[in-house]
Amino acid sequence: MRVISTIAEVRAARMAMPMLGLVPTMGFLHPGHLSLVKRAKSECGLVAASIFVNPTQFGPNEDFGRYPRARERDLALLEAEDCDLVFTPDVTEIYPAGFDARIDIGGVTEGLEGAVRPGHFTGVATVVAKLFNIFQPTRAYFGQKDAQQCAVIRKLVRDLDMPLEVVVCETVREVDGLAMSSRNAYLSPAERAKATILIRALRAAAASGDRDAEALRRLMRDTIHTEPLAQLDYVSVADPDTLEELNHLGEGGALLSLAVRVSGTRLIDNLIIP
Ligand code: AMP
Repeated sequence: MRVISTIAEVRAARMAMPMLGLVPTMGFLHPGHLSLVKRAKSECGLVAASIFVNPTQFGPNEDFGRYPRARERDLALLEAEDCDLVFTPDVTEIYPAGFDARIDIGGVTEGLEGAVRPGHFTGVATVVAKLFNIFQPTRAYFGQKDAQQCAVIRKLVRDLDMPLEVVVCETVREVDGLAMSSRNAYLSPAERAKATILIRALRAAAASGDRDAEALRRLMRDTIHTEPLAQLDYVSVADPDTLEELNHLGEGGALLSLAVRVSGTRLIDNLIIP
């Protein structure tokens, strides 16, 4: 496994790779990230991961400074997955002095996370577009855990005719259903136990069989409100592609999603109803 930190080194390494799967991450890796590496390795033969805590996707009052980092442990985990290349750039390699570009994808960035975190998806789309240009991957792998991010990246690739395939991989969960996330490290043991309220709310709605979107939202809200430590940011029942809020569940199914603060820690999760 090669670990490199400049764009020039990536470009030189890429020349010798016929097919490449790319897994962009912010590090502090867990089995969710590693599931993407495994899938990329099995489908593409050669896999590259990037580890970059991207400052432009964090708001001024968000957790950029304290976002968890564990470089040596991450590298060992990637080595164990037979990852071929790891890109660990400094912030100035990605955003040199004078950097000014912004990619604004519009529509799908406006609701849900985009409404609560202004500018977040501009930061995501811009850094992902840069990573796609740097690596020129055959396929890029993302997790369903960040459903809106997947919709934004699919649209980025479609609208700008980027020559690669976006692969969305299932959310990897702890045994009790909590979606794995680097931010789970912020939770105390007591908060960690309460954090299953997100998946409990999603599963209660999905299991209800109700096709009325407002009834599903109400069920999720009511479930979240049973947990005193949990503070609801939003619940949504939306079209899985456009992310527009639905009234009724039709043939296209629905994306159930929510964001909840458990004490100070903001968690997101989602389920697709077919
Ligand atoms: P992050 O490091 O949080 O930016 O995540 C990097 C990639 O891993 C993104 O495509 C995430 O959607 C994906 N990911 C994060 N958590 C999970 C999970 N629990 N299951 C599957 N994919 C995940």
